[in-house]
Amino acid sequence: MQKKILIIGAGITGCSLAYFLANTGWDVTLLESQDEIARGGSGNPVAAIYPKFMLNDKAYNDFMLKSFVFTTAWVNQLGLNKDDYRFDGAIEVLEDAYAHKLEINLSGKIANQEIFLSLLDKPILKKYLMNQDSRGLLFHQGGWVNPIALCRHLVNHSNIKILTNQEMISIEKLNDQWILKTKNQKNFNACHVAICNAEHLHQFDLTQHLHTDAFRGQINWVNSTSFQMPSIVICDKGYLAPHMQDMHIFGATYAMNDFNKDLRLSDTRKNIASIKEIHHEFYNYCLEQKTISGRVAWRASTRDRKPYVGCVFNNQLFKKMRVRELAQTDHLPWLDNLYVASGFGSRGFTFAPYCTFVLANLINKNLSKEDKETLNYTNPERYRLKKMSLKKAASRIFKV
Ligand SMILES: Cc1cc2nc3c(=O)[nH]c(=O)nc-3n(C[C@H](O)[C@H](O)[C@H](O)COP(=O)(O)OP(=O)(O)OC[C@H]3O[C@@H](n4cnc5c(N)ncnc54)[C@H](O)[C@@H]3O)c2cc1C
Repeated sequence: MQKKILIIGAGITGCSLAYFLANTGWDVTLLESQDEIARGGSGNPVAAIYPKFMLNDKAYNDFMLKSFVFTTAWVNQLGLNKDDYRFDGAIEVLEDAYAHKLEINLSGKIANQEIFLSLLDKPILKKYLMNQDSRGLLFHQGGWVNPIALCRHLVNHSNIKILTNQEMISIEKLNDQWILKTKNQKNFNACHVAICNAEHLHQFDLTQHLHTDAFRGQINWVNSTSFQMPSIVICDKGYLAPHMQDMHIFGATYAMNDFNKDLRLSDTRKNIASIKEIHHEFYNYCLEQKTISGRVAWRASTRDRKPYVGCVFNNQLFKKMRVRELAQTDHLPWLDNLYVASGFGSRGFTFAPYCTFVLANLINKNLSKEDKETLNYTNPERYRLKKMSLKKAASRIFKV
């Protein structure tokens, strides 16, 4: 097998997949439509990393936990500059009853729960300069990363070639080769292709059925102030990051299928309002500022909040198959050597490194039982199978 792969999209998803494959001997070409890597959702000055659990969704919580544990351990050992990440805690402000229920629901599912999370108490609130009435959870290994620094670090590898200003417009198969065409009529070919282009996933014929919604998000920041700020990420209605790169960063807004690229004053105001309970003086200071910097980007979200990670069907074969045949998961009409990883929503920096590690194991034909469980969960074809009443098949594409 020729170990050559083209990856479309150089955000955290494309960059981490490139990293895992390059480190297992693949010759990787990363194709990015913008003039630099990490210009989409992955181009913010900070990304919070903490496990956002649901009250009653065990499968989602298992996936969240696996991703969080993997990603934090992995980032810790990458050798990133110490100013570009920190995992010394993240606080999620929650309603009291919700925080208690979540803690109870999680008990027994997390090894050493007491060192993993704590309900907010007086000493914690005092330590992080928080309002004494706040309630919620402290995730002791949560933290943040500088997304651009992380992406750059990942692709700094002799097996990875980065080509920017290359917008892919089509993917076709000729014999055993995938042919990718760019807007500027350039062609690239390889036996293997991975599509990591976030909310643009549906742009290709082969993946047009993989629906994501684009959620516009705006973050804001002000230059350093003399305020004493919390030393860890605090998430309430919005989040306030610790002081970094001479900025106090806060956000973020959330608006579905809103494609306005400009900063909006109304969104800046929303972001300021969202940190009112986290730091009252800083909130007042932001209200007084004449101009506040910021950035706009989009998150790609699926309807069920689960990303699409894995393979897709050959549309022609799929249309010809009967429901009975599709129920036999050994005979599903997968396309060979075409992979997707998209739809990471607001949690790309927790999910994408773990999911691309698993995807790289799939590409290397080296799946563990846990990898198979993850790919069953993230099966990109789950909607088409479920529509044919094949719910079980949708989550059992691999036998475990
Ligand atoms: C305001 C905001 C705040 C956020 N905060 C957090 C946070 O605190 N923590 C967290 O974990 N996540 C956060 N997220 C979500 C996170 O940023 C995303 O989940 C993550 O960046 C997704 O990474 P990605 O690589 O899949 O997509 P992207 O980073 O968007 O990368 C996709 C790349 O594909 C390229 N591309 C698209 N189409 C083509 C094409 N046809 N040809 C070539 N290239 C193409 C794009 O230019 C882009 O560079 C936030 C998102 C937003 C918008």
